[in-house]
Amino acid sequence: MMDFIEYSKNGSIEIIVGPMYAGKSEELIRRVNRAKIANLRVLSFKPAIDNRYSDNHITSHNGKKLECISVTNAAEILQYIINEEFDVLSIDEVQFLEEEIIGICQRVADMDKRVICSGLDMDFRGEPFKIVPDLMAIAENVTKLTAICMKCKMPATRTQRIVNGKPAKYDDPTIMVGANESYEARCRACHEVIK
Ligand code: ADP
Ligand code: ZN
Repeated sequence: MMDFIEYSKNGSIEIIVGPMYAGKSEELIRRVNRAKIANLRVLSFKPAIDNRYSDNHITSHNGKKLECISVTNAAEILQYIINEEFDVLSIDEVQFLEEEIIGICQRVADMDKRVICSGLDMDFRGEPFKIVPDLMAIAENVTKLTAICMKCKMPATRTQRIVNGKPAKYDDPTIMVGANESYEARCRACHEVIK
């Protein structure tokens, strides 16, 4: 398999997408570890919104960990980029950042540096997730991973949202106070959204 552009002198953007549990964080951590073995200086970030696990680590569902800086917005990342010396920028859960992150990724790539992002390409409705499709469009390399569908065990491309034991409704708010919520990977055929 051709392994991205990690040996290139030119800047580039690569993005790893797919549903929850597809191995996006795992793959991002793998690429960052390889960059570190090559003595490249890596700046890693994640949006602070995602504090399911430890706060200053990118953590995969199978326990892989990478130290990172938690930020509350894209402008904070810009400050680090201006002030720090680095070769590689990595961002996990990029779907939670604002549109500004697109210009920042472009700027870093134009500085001949490597940008590695990972994030959800679709929301729980199965619709494109905010800025992620735009990043996919401008990226040199897109890796779309699948998880395993929890219903039929085929490759899963979507994230099923479950609220109080039932498929979430299309119009359900992002944050539902008091509800018992969970997410699982599903294929196109098994993915359910109640209209
Ligand atoms: P993502 O960042 O895409 O949510 P992670 O890298 O955090 O994914 O976790 C991937 C790991 O999750 C897999 O290596 C596997 O051990 C575990 N896993 C749990 N449920 C599933 C599933 N339905 N399909 C695939 N992997 C799963
Ligand atoms: Zn299925």
